[in-house]
Amino acid sequence: MRGLELTKFKKLYLKRDREKPIKHYHPWIFSGAIKRVDGEPFSGETVMVVDADGDFLAWGAYSPESQIRVRIWSWVQGQEITPEYFRTLISGALKYRKRIGYIYPMRRLIHGESDGLPGLIADQYADVLVLQFLSSGVEFWKDDLIQILAEETDCKTIFERSDVEVRKLEGLPLRTGTLSGPEPANLVEIEENSIKYWIDVANGHKTGYYLDQRENRRVIGELCSGKTVLDCFSYSGGFSLQALINNAKSVTLIDESESALALAEKHFQENQLDLDRVTAQQGDVFKVLRKFRDQAKSFDVIILDPPKFAPTASHVERAARGYKDINLLAFKLLNPGGLLATFSCSGGITREFFLRVLSGAAQDAKVNARIQLHMGQSADHSSNLYFPEGNYLKGFGIRVG
Ligand code: SAH
Repeated sequence: MRGLELTKFKKLYLKRDREKPIKHYHPWIFSGAIKRVDGEPFSGETVMVVDADGDFLAWGAYSPESQIRVRIWSWVQGQEITPEYFRTLISGALKYRKRIGYIYPMRRLIHGESDGLPGLIADQYADVLVLQFLSSGVEFWKDDLIQILAEETDCKTIFERSDVEVRKLEGLPLRTGTLSGPEPANLVEIEENSIKYWIDVANGHKTGYYLDQRENRRVIGELCSGKTVLDCFSYSGGFSLQALINNAKSVTLIDESESALALAEKHFQENQLDLDRVTAQQGDVFKVLRKFRDQAKSFDVIILDPPKFAPTASHVERAARGYKDINLLAFKLLNPGGLLATFSCSGGITREFFLRVLSGAAQDAKVNARIQLHMGQSADHSSNLYFPEGNYLKGFGIRVG
C-alpha cells in the first residue's frame, strides 16, 4: 500500500502506555487502549493502527461493538489486506499441519489468532469442512475465505457452525448451515487408525467433535488396560473408546447429554467393542460423583474433561470452586495407585492456577499425589508464542498413593 492510497484507511491511535502488546505481536487491541479513531469504521473495516505519535504499528479489523476493538491482520506496513493475503495465511496454516504430520481425516486446519486469522476456525471431517466465523474481521471477508478454503482444501462440503455465543459480543447473529457443496450426512462417517467415528457436524458440540484431545485420549487410553475407568463429561465417548480398545476392564461414562451418550454407544457398537464392559450414566457429574462416593464406589482411572467453567478471566473464582469440587470427589473415588486425568479448557485459567486448585483438592481428599503427565492441546490447535490465550487446554495425569 503505497503513497496516496494509504489515506483511504482510517487511523486508530493507541494510548502511549498501551502500545506494548501490539509491539510484541499480540493480536488484540482492547477498547481501553485506544486514544482516538478517525471517523467511525464499519464492522470488519481494515484500519491502520498507529502509535500515539501517528507512526504505523499494524493493520487490523475493526469491531465497533466488541471490547476487543481491533484484531490484527499484519504488522507489515507494505502488506495489503486482500483475499490473496488470506490465501497465503491459509496455505501457511495447511503447510504447518502437513509439516507436523497432521494428515488425519479429522483435524483442525485453522486455529484463529494462532494461525494469523483472528476469529476463524476450520475443522476438517473427511471431505466436510466446518467453519466458525467468530469475529467481525472474518465475517467481513467471509465469501472470500470460503472460496479460498474450498480451493485449498478440496473439501466437498463447507458447513457453517457460527452458533457460538462469542459472536454476540461482536454484534453478529448466530448462524448455521451449508455454505457450499452438498448437504453433509446426518452423521459424517470417518475411519481413522482403523477406528470408526460418527460426527454430527450440524448439531454436535463445537464443530462436532473435541479434536483438541486427540493425543491425550491415546496416551490415557493406553494406561487403561485392565483397569476400571470412569469417564466424566464423556461426550460421544472419545476417551472411553480408546480405553476399551486398550482392553479396559470396565468403562463408566457420565454425561448430561442423552444424544452424546447415544452416539458413544454407536461408537462402541460399530467398532465391535464389548458393551458388557460399558455403563452409561446420564446426569450431572457433580451429583453422580457424590452418589458414587456415598455408594463407596471406586475406580482405577478417572477422567475429568469438563466444559469451559471460566470462558473469561472474570469467571475464575466460580470456576475454581467447580474444578476443586469435582477433582476432590475424583481423588476420593480413586483406588490406591490410581490415575486421575484431569483437564481445564478455560482460557481464563492458567496452568499454574489449575495446579494450585488441584493441590487444594488433593489436600482436602487427603491423598498423596504426583504428576505423571503434563498434557495440552493437539498440535493442530496451534498455539502461537505471541498469543498465550490460544494455548487454552491444560491437563495433568496425577497418580495417587
Ligand atoms: N471428553 C469428551 C469431551 C467433553 S466436552 C471427548 O473426549 O470428546 C464436555 C462434555 O460435558 C459435553 O459432552 C457436555 O454435554 C458435558 N457436560 C457439561 N456439563 C455437565 C455436567 N454438569 N454434568 C455432566 N455432563 C456435563
